[in-house]
Amino acid sequence: MARRLVIIGGDAAGMSAATQVRRTKTVAEMEVVVFERSSRTSYAACGLPYLVGGFVKSPDSLIARTPEQHRAKGIDVRTRHEVTAIDVRASTVAVRDLNSGRVFAEHYDELLIGSGASGISPQWPGIDAKGVLQLRTLDDAATIEQLIASGARRAVVVGAGYIGLEVAEGLLERGLHVTVVERLDAPMGAVLDADMAMDVAGAMTAAGIDLRLGTAVTGFTVVSGRVTAVETAAGPVEADLVVIGLRVRPNAGWRERQASALGDSGGIRVDDHLRTDTPHIWAAGTASSPPPDDGRAIGGADDAYRQGPRRRTNIAGGDAAFGGVPGR
Ligand SMILES: Cc1cc2nc3c(=O)[nH]c(=O)nc-3n(C[C@H](O)[C@H](O)[C@H](O)COP(=O)(O)OP(=O)(O)OC[C@H]3O[C@@H](n4cnc5c(N)ncnc54)[C@H](O)[C@@H]3O)c2cc1C
Repeated sequence: MARRLVIIGGDAAGMSAATQVRRTKTVAEMEVVVFERSSRTSYAACGLPYLVGGFVKSPDSLIARTPEQHRAKGIDVRTRHEVTAIDVRASTVAVRDLNSGRVFAEHYDELLIGSGASGISPQWPGIDAKGVLQLRTLDDAATIEQLIASGARRAVVVGAGYIGLEVAEGLLERGLHVTVVERLDAPMGAVLDADMAMDVAGAMTAAGIDLRLGTAVTGFTVVSGRVTAVETAAGPVEADLVVIGLRVRPNAGWRERQASALGDSGGIRVDDHLRTDTPHIWAAGTASSPPPDDGRAIGGADDAYRQGPRRRTNIAGGDAAFGGVPGR
């Protein structure tokens, strides 16, 4: 009888693992079932700022493989299905069909957690207002597009990390007035030395971005449910569109349901074979904390994709270590 690999998350880490396992195991040897809560698979989140900026013309250009294409390769992809819990003793996951509302349990022999990360959303007053959002998915990019189409002209990006800067560039390209508000005294202050960070600041200003450094956001002014300004310690900044680009946190809450221990960076701790401390449960991509876990880094797309061959080999019964990617 076929063993069953269940995967939580149908993007970079999850689908690269599914594809790799399918290359070495037939359906008769190992079923691969993927639960993905959105309606898409294998999309390049890294390209979202370029979609917003119009450099990438269509959302379809960011989709490497659709659910139908994966199914044609023998991967049982179930989109709009959210895994809500893991029952380690019964070797099952609890799944909610987001279309019908039906909840059911699905058995696994091996389980891979590839649930990614979510952007941090501080409890600032007004953060739920229309016009305040994060850029994490194709649906978020579509919302930004609608806001621009309905007349948004003043954009504020909160956070001058690399994604914030990419979004700012994209919105500038679309002709919006763009302000970047950053609590630290330099853009990309978490990763660049001061001299380089100030070069980045100079380039941003020269490009036409209104850069407000050392400025802490305190909330949002909201009129009739829509954002009209970002409130800061230095006063309000008018806005029709606000993109929050702060740190991300791994979607690793499975631990509360007794799945596996967390590493210092908040992801599920795995060894160099991507095994968690719970037998038959694996984790990869931004949901995981592979060694060396210095409590600082959450991996990027490189980690998620390059772990793929290791997962194939190890889940399929082999032995391959993940040595990290450059910079980690
Ligand atoms: C705007 C933006 C720009 C980026 N730019 C870069 C870049 O330039 N370079 C770089 O290296 N990285 C970049 N990244 C990060 C990169 O996209 C991620 O590192 C990579 O996507 C991680 O892959 P993953 O599979 O671990 O997680 P994700 O791609 O986040 O996939 C996780 C999937 O799991 C699904 N999921 C979560 N919980 C559940 C659940 N309970 N049940 C079912 N499904 C669930 C989610 O819907 C999602 O599809 C960027 C990210 C963003 C958002």
